[in-house]
Amino acid sequence: MTSFDYDLFVIGAGSGGVRAGRIAARHGAKVAVAEEYRVGGTCVIRGCVPKKLLVYASKFAEEFEDAVGFGWTTEKVSFDWVTLIENKDREIDRLNKAYIRNLEAAGAELIQERATVAGPNTVALASGRKVTARYILVATGASPFVPRHLPGHELAITSNEAFHLERLPSRICIVGGGYIAVEFAGIFSGLGVETVLICRGENILRGFDEDVRSHLSSEMKKKGVEIRTRSDIARIESSGTGVRVTLNDGAAFGAGQIMFATGRVPNVMGLGLAEAGVDLTPHLAVKVDAWSQSSVASIYAVGDVTNRVNLTPVAIREGHAFADTVFGGKKVAVDHSLIPTAVFSQPEIGTVGLTEEQARQGFKAVDIYKTSYRPMKHTISGRDERTLMKLVVDGDSDRVLGCHICGPDAGEMAQLLGISLRLGATKSDFDATMAVHPTAAEELVTMREKWVPTK
Ligand code: NDP
Repeated sequence: MTSFDYDLFVIGAGSGGVRAGRIAARHGAKVAVAEEYRVGGTCVIRGCVPKKLLVYASKFAEEFEDAVGFGWTTEKVSFDWVTLIENKDREIDRLNKAYIRNLEAAGAELIQERATVAGPNTVALASGRKVTARYILVATGASPFVPRHLPGHELAITSNEAFHLERLPSRICIVGGGYIAVEFAGIFSGLGVETVLICRGENILRGFDEDVRSHLSSEMKKKGVEIRTRSDIARIESSGTGVRVTLNDGAAFGAGQIMFATGRVPNVMGLGLAEAGVDLTPHLAVKVDAWSQSSVASIYAVGDVTNRVNLTPVAIREGHAFADTVFGGKKVAVDHSLIPTAVFSQPEIGTVGLTEEQARQGFKAVDIYKTSYRPMKHTISGRDERTLMKLVVDGDSDRVLGCHICGPDAGEMAQLLGISLRLGATKSDFDATMAVHPTAAEELVTMREKWVPTK
């Protein structure tokens, strides 16, 4: 039998790669994990975790305002960006070290340099060393996409740099209408930065339920975010103190910074995949089957580099399923349906299942239940903010097909709604469930009237 240096060589120590490496080692495999940047990957180092810390920071501005109605005096508050970034970096360092410890405790060897595929069972390290492995797992993630055809694109930052700005600009232009664009618009706006969102579509968050899209858009505008839809950037020029942005319709304005949040592309460049015979999809992601196996039997891939559902918990599941399948003697395929998700916009979105539009395409009779109301807190704070809740129900079977929330703690609710939908809950099950009072979530079990469109 051929002998290899390792049973498994993982390229990329992000959420998917680390989970795969740890579980494979636990199954008795000899594992190496290579990372060229920092262990933890996008989620921990420059994604979900630091983003949520910044979201917390940005919400205090409204909390201080809201507190006044509850009797507090908050005149002397001030904010320091540098303190926030230092504290955020300290927490990211802690997590980075914890990830390294966990990998080592599982018995995996960490190799802190770039690795590329040099053959079906061979990996080349940046130092020049070559190693062999029975299996190679590509878990290299994705990177921000920058529209390089645009004149002046090099003047723009992406989310990577947004986490390390030396100071906050007084005005920022964010390009894109997806998760990252709306989340960072909330962060910057909450921290007092005048924020302009340039979105090329009809509205933000294409693919989300239409009611959620318009609800969030109108709430963001109330908070002062300027959203310009059907807008595209024509060029960006340096203005000395910042940039001058010109749109396709000729409108022009200045900003301290411009940030692209225009999607992410799988990290496959220079990895040697094509040379090794690994097929890529038309979007240049690694093409894999339900068990994350590529077109080369010994090479697997998980997470954003496969461009299936680009979310951290999905990458973790895919990594775990790969390790169980290949080293645990148990074939596991990840179920990519009914994935609950949150957008940490302000207000937050929590969603699971079909949008109304998707349901109407696949089901004959679709019932909609929805409510929009002012949260109890704002009866005293006086804030003009509303919460939206919506249930999409199959009128024939009574099964709840989708739940969509835009309001405080929507992400927390989506997690639990995910369980209900997975269990096949019907609208009658929702109705039979006792409300928790007084909460926002009780609205989900107290909506009785079908929504009837006004003519
Ligand atoms: P998204 O794919 O969510 O959104 C990209 C946005 O950029 C869309 O509005 C798209 O418009 C627009 N766009 C793309 N190309 C151009 C262009 N050339 N010019 C102008 N606009 C353009 O990507 P994000 O970067 O926001 O996030 C990447 C992924 O990361 C998400 O899909 C998500 O999977 C994940 N993520 C998850 C988070 C969470 O779970 N909370 C948080 C952050 C990221 P159009 O719609 O017209 O194509």
